[in-house]
Amino acid sequence: MKALCVFSGGLDSMLAVELVRAQDIEVQALFFETPFFSSDKAKTSAEHLHVPLRVIDITKPHLEIVQNPRHGYGTHMNPCIDCHALMFRTAGELLEDEGAGFVISGEVLGQRPMSQNKSALELIARESGLGSLLLRPLSAKHLPPSKPETRGWIQRDLLLDFKGRSRKPQMALAKKLKISDYPSPAGGCLLTEEVFSRRLKHLFSCTPHPEIFEIELLKFGRHFALGPGTKLVVGRNKQENQRLFSLATGKRTILKPVSIPGPTAVLTGPVTPSLLGLALEITVAYSDSEGQDSVKMGISGEKDERVEIAPGKHKRAFKGMMI
Ligand code: SF4
Repeated sequence: MKALCVFSGGLDSMLAVELVRAQDIEVQALFFETPFFSSDKAKTSAEHLHVPLRVIDITKPHLEIVQNPRHGYGTHMNPCIDCHALMFRTAGELLEDEGAGFVISGEVLGQRPMSQNKSALELIARESGLGSLLLRPLSAKHLPPSKPETRGWIQRDLLLDFKGRSRKPQMALAKKLKISDYPSPAGGCLLTEEVFSRRLKHLFSCTPHPEIFEIELLKFGRHFALGPGTKLVVGRNKQENQRLFSLATGKRTILKPVSIPGPTAVLTGPVTPSLLGLALEITVAYSDSEGQDSVKMGISGEKDERVEIAPGKHKRAFKGMMI
């Protein structure tokens, strides 16, 4: 028998894999990648467990649910119920292809108030189309028996009854199973982060169908809303400056001081002469321009390059525009 595990790379999904493998069931881990959640941690965790990992890009359908979730958002822009249903549905569609009989996950009853309460777990199983083919080994004893249990593919007695927000039982089990290398629960999905969510909301309000490049831009820099749909992203260090430059070259207007050290900045959306002037002033304010009345600025457009002089101003003048 083989199972597919919806695998985030976090400790709970690692434990789910090990609990099921302990019953002589082969496990194939699946990671569902989006611009908001990279597969890096899942790859490291899968290597640690020596479990095969398949990374599946679900960006397109996932973006649709992030913009219009049927079951709403969590604390920020995270539509966890819809997102889980999408991942489990996709896993279900792969059962035949993978020669597997059921799907498992590391969900723990009550760990997340909105997406892991009893009715949410039932809803996700139903909406994904998996129904009783979805097994949650860490909380199985609190849930109705799944098909793998009733059919005798797996012993319910050996499954667990974890419940609630405490991580102590998971950590104790990890120690028992000799899983020493696992990521901290924090981090992972950017949709659970306040600043990223605010930027994403702003992007959706100006651009209903953003390019992936525009979502990538939300991940770093200082962001300023200059006008309806026009935004300036200013790098905060050398690494961000390089990243901004490589992301935006040939696609958007790039600003950079010519005569003094300073950030790379990228201008997106409609650009009028006055918005360009404002963008130049902000970029100068974040440069080493103290005491200078004006600074020579390089402007690289999609097709041309030129130099303009921009006045020196203090950062505080632009704080109110930050997203
Ligand atoms: S935290 Fe992010 S990846 Fe995880 S279920 Fe929620 S939206 Fe999906």
